[in-house]
This record gives sequence, C-alpha cells and structure tokens, in this order.
Amino acid sequence: MSTLVPSACPYDCPDCCGLLAEVAGGRVIAVHGDPAHPYSRGSLCPKMVHYERTVNHTERLTHPLIRTGPKGEGKFRRAS
Ligand code: SF4
Repeated sequence: MSTLVPSACPYDCPDCCGLLAEVAGGRVIAVHGDPAHPYSRGSLCPKMVHYERTVNHTERLTHPLIRTGPKGEGKFRRAS
C-alpha cells in the first residue's frame, strides 16, 4: 500500500511545480504531478517524471561534504 505525499519540485526553475510523491515502505516509488497546483495542474516535465530514480540512486549525496584535500583528489568529510 502506498501514500501520496504533497511536495514541490526541488529544481531551480521558476515554475516550482507541485509534486505528489508516492511512498511505500519508507521509499519514494513514483512521482506524480499535483493536479491541485495552480500553474502546472498535474503535469511534470521530463526531468521530474522519474525523479524516484534520482532519490533512490545508490550514489546520491545525502549529506553535505567538505573537501579535505586538493581539488580533484576526491577526498571529503561529512559536514556537521
Ligand atoms: S517539474 Fe520541471 S518544469 Fe516543473 S519546476 Fe521542476 S524542473 Fe521546472
């Protein structure tokens, strides 16, 4: 069983489209346009239509990082 959670697109775009995140078992399994949004009225652009893939990607950064070595070395520590 899934639940629809109202949200908004996180991208830096002036439309700020409304989203409904479909959540099951603590994970976003799909993203839908929010028909109640006054501008986008339920539509989503191609960048967001499968945003659950981005949210659940194994290499997605989930914490801010601070570089600890020279640029390009790939050394970081987690910011507080
Ligand atoms: S869904 Fe697409 S058009 Fe809407 S705010 Fe996000 S990036 Fe912009």
